[in-house]
Amino acid sequence: MNCRVNIDTYRCNSCETCVVVCPEVFRINPALEKAESISDTVACSEPLKRAAAMCPEKCIAIEPA
Ligand code: SF4
Repeated sequence: MNCRVNIDTYRCNSCETCVVVCPEVFRINPALEKAESISDTVACSEPLKRAAAMCPEKCIAIEPA
């Protein structure tokens, strides 16, 4: 199953927790210095869900694609 990832970059504090927990999906955009998803739709993996749960700003939304 695939998921769509939406990051509220206004609330993102650039802590990189999501990048550490799920580097196959998240990276820091060097220009914006905010998290972004590598792709609009990604596999709904456990690390993806864990990254969203661990985001201190709760700014990662995941929905079925
Ligand atoms: S875990 Fe949340 S606050 Fe931290 S970089 Fe990722 S999206 Fe931003």
